[in-house]
Amino acid sequence: MKTLVTGGAGFLGSHICERLLEQGHEVICLDNFFTGNKKNVDHLRDFSNFELLRHDVIDPFKVEVDRIYNMACPASPVHYQYNPIKTVKTSVMGAINCLGLAKRVGARILQASTSEVYGDPEVHPQPESYRGNVNPIGLRACYDEGKRCAETLFFDYHRENQVDTRVVRIFNTYGPRMAPDDGRVVSNFIVQAIKGEDLTIYGDGSQTRSFCYVDDLVEAILRTMEQEETVGPVNIGNPVEFTIRELAEQVLEKVGSSSKLVEMPLPSDDPTQRKPDISLAKKVLGWEPTVQLADGLERTIPYFRKAISS
Ligand code: NAD
Ligand code: UDP
Repeated sequence: MKTLVTGGAGFLGSHICERLLEQGHEVICLDNFFTGNKKNVDHLRDFSNFELLRHDVIDPFKVEVDRIYNMACPASPVHYQYNPIKTVKTSVMGAINCLGLAKRVGARILQASTSEVYGDPEVHPQPESYRGNVNPIGLRACYDEGKRCAETLFFDYHRENQVDTRVVRIFNTYGPRMAPDDGRVVSNFIVQAIKGEDLTIYGDGSQTRSFCYVDDLVEAILRTMEQEETVGPVNIGNPVEFTIRELAEQVLEKVGSSSKLVEMPLPSDDPTQRKPDISLAKKVLGWEPTVQLADGLERTIPYFRKAISS
């Protein structure tokens, strides 16, 4: 099968490209390298059926493919808030361009949506039926509302134009190939612990997240694309919930670091809790995560040690 992965040089996209190539598919990786890096896909150039395209999803493009994974969008709050208007354009115009392409060439298309569509949730854990609690004018809105609008477009293209769509809502995921300066919590804490710097806890660290290891997440994304039972949205993530302080303590232990924990101001609209209800994923994908946080950190830390030293 011929596959397009937008945002394919990013953290998740590069793992998807790799898995698809290993399965024998042709892969076109499209990226503007805003937060992605050629290094993430350098090793894939050995595959003759791999192609790398520098392109921005806000501009239209044409390729003949059977599958599209639309992963292009900065995912770290630091990066998506750097140029918020561009973030909205990437989500919304990127979705329109990818859906238009899918319609023209008859490709099946999957959208990387996010747990951020639930905002600061008042329902816990979050099932797909929960409509969320997003501040539409806050600092996170460029990402949250951009992704919500992209979901709207996916469902309207499906209803109006019979485009073969899939939507996954991804919860916090971590692992090798996150950029050391990505700014998200797992990468920040590991890098700080390795360097012997203070671990920066925003607020008092009582807010919660549920962390999924990348291999589990990619398996769920590929299964969602190839199943016929639902167009989604399907929550995918690890339902084991930790406070941010508990995460910091685990990272210190796993790195073997004596760094201190320091409290910093909590960013505005930072969700207080987040945990996926994955009943639907269990039912339609026959999937649940297999790598728990302690194990996932052990697999991730060596990557950051190498990335920092080089
Ligand atoms: P990432 O920042 O590592 O990857 C995003 C990729 O998209 C990068 O390679 C970047 O250069 C590229 N990109 C950004 N804007 C683009 C544009 N306009 N045109 C072309 N390419 C562009 O982040 P990630 O964690 O790999 O996230 C991938 C996708 O998954 C994103 O859509 C993100 O919203 C979604 N997601 C990720 C998580 C997570 O925890 N990792 C959680 C929820 C949703
Ligand atoms: N966070 C933190 N220290 C950091 C980075 C993030 O305490 O150095 C917190 C952040 O305030 C949030 C949680 O960790 O409560 C997860 O943040 P991240 O940016 O990874 O993802 P989010 O789920 O907020 O999009």
